[in-house]
Amino acid sequence: MTPEEFRTAGHQLVDWIADYRTGIPDRPVQAQVKPSEVADALPAQPPSKPEDLDAVLRDLDEIIVPGLMQVQHPRHTGWFPSNASLASVLGDIASSGIGALGISWQSAPALTELEEVVCDWMRQLTGLSEGWKGVIQDTASTGCLVALLAARERAAGYVSERGGLQSLEAPLTVYASEHAHSAIPKAALLAGFGRDNIRSIGTSPTTFALDPALLRSAIEQDVDEGRVPAAIVVSIGTTATTAVDPLAEILEIAAAYGIWVHVDAAMAGSALLLPEYRWLVEGIEGFTTPDGVVVPPADSLGWNPHKWMGTILDTSLLYVREPERLIRVMSTNPSFLRNAVPGERVATEYRDWGIPLGRRFRALKLWFHLRLDGVTAIQDRLRRDLTNARRLAALVEAEPGWSLVAPVTLQTVCLRHDPGSAGSAELSGELLDAHTLAWADALNRSGVGTVTPAVVGGRWMVRVSIGVETTEWPDVEAVWNAAKELAAETA
Ligand SMILES: *Cc1c(COP(=O)(O)O)cnc(C)c1O
Repeated sequence: MTPEEFRTAGHQLVDWIADYRTGIPDRPVQAQVKPSEVADALPAQPPSKPEDLDAVLRDLDEIIVPGLMQVQHPRHTGWFPSNASLASVLGDIASSGIGALGISWQSAPALTELEEVVCDWMRQLTGLSEGWKGVIQDTASTGCLVALLAARERAAGYVSERGGLQSLEAPLTVYASEHAHSAIPKAALLAGFGRDNIRSIGTSPTTFALDPALLRSAIEQDVDEGRVPAAIVVSIGTTATTAVDPLAEILEIAAAYGIWVHVDAAMAGSALLLPEYRWLVEGIEGFTTPDGVVVPPADSLGWNPHKWMGTILDTSLLYVREPERLIRVMSTNPSFLRNAVPGERVATEYRDWGIPLGRRFRALKLWFHLRLDGVTAIQDRLRRDLTNARRLAALVEAEPGWSLVAPVTLQTVCLRHDPGSAGSAELSGELLDAHTLAWADALNRSGVGTVTPAVVGGRWMVRVSIGVETTEWPDVEAVWNAAKELAAETA
């Protein structure tokens, strides 16, 4: 394809994207396809001759788009928001069109330096001090893995430079809330800690936040039994209920043992753009306790602009206090330490801050998003969603038979319907679970909206996670009305 052919086809594709986005509200939210329906509609053999773009766009319309959950749909309240603001889409297109290759500073100086600049903009926007240095990872899962690798090596005295984990006598341990995202135990497993050394810490029965007393006793027991606590992952905004682990208390416990603290704010990090939500990470910069104990800051923080904030996937920020900790573990250049000539500014080599060598020009997505949409509009939208969540919570509380299952900390409302509780005896646990799953499934299959069932305190409940860019109050109300109707029908 020549640049001139690209010009024509590109205009056509941009028109297609704009039409697709405009038409989303008229589509069912959940894909109405069965397994293998999409694959069966596609040729089993690859094309041998070039085809027209028209033919490709027709297949997008007829086969591909109907086979997708419409996560940009205003009535998508399932999972967490996975916004893809069109301003950031333009940045993504620019990134692809430029086709830069980030394998070193030298290979694309602007790729590295724009990433440093936008990470620092985001640092300022989220109220972090200058002590934090950022990098864009593909996902929070990778960010957590990278943090745990650095934590492991710090705790083990950089044993990978010698015999590795296999030469350690004492096992290293990792701690996280029982409500931590599945990406956390996965990262711990990949980082070689081993299932036996991953501690799932109990939570408060009302807030679902990690119980620091249980954390402390788990650590004490491990230390007594000769193990070495290496890392604590603090969940700021858990997946089930957006519960907020008590970071300051956890940092204080970690300080006593020199444990690496990684803050997983994948979802809730967007809220840090609002000064009134900075309490979410109170203590992250370190502090001195009333009895004079100096508690150092957390070691790493990851969050996803590609969720609620709306910079298209894959845009996950990872901030660290000491980039050397990442570099020491992941640099492929044995002479990296010698590069540091005193007084000379050394170029950042982001390949040493993560796993891949070749990196995309992801910073363009954030750059376009921030510049074209503007921070104020993004903040207004986040506040709109927080208001809508509180408004929904008030309706749920006022509705007979319905209850809130968790505090509404952010934009996710966790609710349950018990057909018995309005009048006669309440349903038994198992019947209640079956009822919850039935109406949630009916709602999802209806195409009207999407919700996600989840288990807390051993019982199913339903999450309504507000925050798609186009979701306004009437959309939330439509999902709520459908929930009430379908719950009454399935009771
Ligand atoms: C979404 C989420 C993750 C995983 O994020 P990815 O970027 O998809 O890897 C991890 N932790 C929390 C709390 C999340 O909400």
